[in-house]
Amino acid sequence: MNRVVCVQCPVGCKIKFELIDGKIVKIEGNKCPRGLAYLEDELKEPKRVVPTSVRVVGGNYPLASVKTSAPIPKKYIPHLMKKLREIKVNAPVKVGDVILKNIFDTGVDVIATRTVLKNSERDIPQ
Ligand code: SF4
Repeated sequence: MNRVVCVQCPVGCKIKFELIDGKIVKIEGNKCPRGLAYLEDELKEPKRVVPTSVRVVGGNYPLASVKTSAPIPKKYIPHLMKKLREIKVNAPVKVGDVILKNIFDTGVDVIATRTVLKNSERDIPQ
């Protein structure tokens, strides 16, 4: 039996499966139907959510964490990482800001997951 871990939720089911002529003929270990859909995607075109960070200019932190708004095909990940290493975002950055839109025509955006204030906003009394 082949094995794969489903990453669609924190349960992380260990799925075992058999293929004949590239078709799934047996699957076990998945606690819900999403496991089968995940396995089918893995066999056809594996996708992942990409969490990383981008440089921020003039912010109270030098980096803002970001992630893709949905999983993207793994083949795009090295290109995305290169693109994100090259860009600099001006502060302020707010959680949910779109950093890159519709990357590689996938319909997926890169969004900020951390707020970075402008340097001058850091010392404002609360
Ligand atoms: S098969 Fe269902 S329960 Fe198991 S990890 Fe995947 S989504 Fe979660």
